[in-house]
Amino acid sequence: MRGGSLRSVEFPALVGLIRHPSRGYLLYDTGYAEHFFRATRKLPECLYARVTPVHLKPEETLLRQLADRGIQASDIDTICISHFHADHIAGLRDFPRARLLAMRAEVQTVRRMGRLQRLQRAFLQELLPLDLDERLEFVEDCAVLDPGPRLHPFQQAYDLLGDQSLLGIDLPGHTRSQLGLVGCDERLGSFFLIGDAAWSRRALQEDRKPMAITSLVFDNRRRYDQTFDQLAQLLSEPAAPHLIPSHCLATWQELFA
Ligand SMILES: [Zn+2]
Repeated sequence: MRGGSLRSVEFPALVGLIRHPSRGYLLYDTGYAEHFFRATRKLPECLYARVTPVHLKPEETLLRQLADRGIQASDIDTICISHFHADHIAGLRDFPRARLLAMRAEVQTVRRMGRLQRLQRAFLQELLPLDLDERLEFVEDCAVLDPGPRLHPFQQAYDLLGDQSLLGIDLPGHTRSQLGLVGCDERLGSFFLIGDAAWSRRALQEDRKPMAITSLVFDNRRRYDQTFDQLAQLLSEPAAPHLIPSHCLATWQELFA
């Protein structure tokens, strides 16, 4: 956060597990997985693991956490991919049967990058499933709707499942086209999974955007700031959904721990 001190901090890499009444289980991202360690053994990819050291205990892997809830990998109907950074997709290969849903613009951008550019932008090709093309569906092909005043100032949403239960919102800037997810949980009420559009809820509340140096890994800093401002505005509304950033420990503790 701008104005913060320079020190190491711990970031959780969170995953969303959603149970839909008719579609079954869906995931929002997969977080880290063993595949990350294999993909970052050699140069130059090992530099990635040096810059952001990853600690993953066996009981913290997604497969294990799902198994603890009685859910098998084959039970996952769909994985909504926020963006293709390694901390969000490292577990994709653990779900060989899931339908994959991502923004077309995001996929096209990743495909155009060379090996070093991918590394600079935190993408690891080795994490992608070999049959990605066969299982990938694009958010932009879903029906577009106006989410109305409840998500103001966001004016466009994608009806991801065709029943308006899960809305996809484009949150550009951190990467080319990041996918946010809006839904309603029977216990939590409305929620908005915002990926890395902000790294903490406090940053949004206090209008403290990331320091300038972080722009090195962003796709477009100006668009990031616009998205951040829109989320901050939404958060200030009394009826705002719970905004859940993928790396915000405080939000996770408050809502789920
Ligand atoms: Zn991330």
